[in-house]
Amino acid sequence: MNTYLEQFNNKNEISHEFFEQLRTYAEINNVPIIKRDSLVLIQGLLNIIDAKEMLEIGTAIGYSALSFVSAKKDLHVDTIERNELMYQEATKNVKMLNKQEQVNIIYGDALEVDNNSLKKYDVIFIDAAKAQYQKFFDKYAPLLKDNGIILTDNIIFHGCVSDQENLSKNVRSMVKKIDMYNHYLNTLEDYTTYYIDSGDGLAVTMRKK
Ligand code: SAH
Ligand code: MG
Repeated sequence: MNTYLEQFNNKNEISHEFFEQLRTYAEINNVPIIKRDSLVLIQGLLNIIDAKEMLEIGTAIGYSALSFVSAKKDLHVDTIERNELMYQEATKNVKMLNKQEQVNIIYGDALEVDNNSLKKYDVIFIDAAKAQYQKFFDKYAPLLKDNGIILTDNIIFHGCVSDQENLSKNVRSMVKKIDMYNHYLNTLEDYTTYYIDSGDGLAVTMRKK
């Protein structure tokens, strides 16, 4: 993100240092956390639509979930993580910031979690295994409130989705799935999607009225 603009977004001085530490941890340990510009965009959206309930698929170390609830004090996030190490790290970080009331981490595979144990959400943030995006969407879209939005991160995957040459087999296969997902969103008759060139690409999907 543009460093000039960045300075204005660092208002939350108390936790600013903590979030910087999480960023450093993520970088060292190759945890793919959200890009700053997409984060700021989502923090704005959460406040604009006055979101109260959010579902996140893919917690990792809790960086995004903690950033969301720090930007909106009456927001509650249910977030699903299947990797035990990540789950533990996230649990630790939520405690460090004392956000247990706002962030509920569900340990499990998002494709296996029982939908009926969840709520209805103003925002659903899809950010787990990229090859499964369509499955996550189909499974969780029914939990979206009428005026809610579904956000999907990494829809350009470092630019690889539009330029698929010179990629390893595994990456190409994943990138093809993201591409299919982007087209899939575009074919849905009941939803409109806005594809935003922010961070690693962010899709904003809403129900047609
Ligand atoms: N949202 C985080 C980053 C998430 S990275 C942030 O921006 O800070 C993606 C995470 O999704 C990884 O930790 C991975 O373990 C988890 N994940 C992948 N597939 C999953 C699944 N099917 N169910 C639950 N978690 C999953
Ligand atoms: Mg992401």
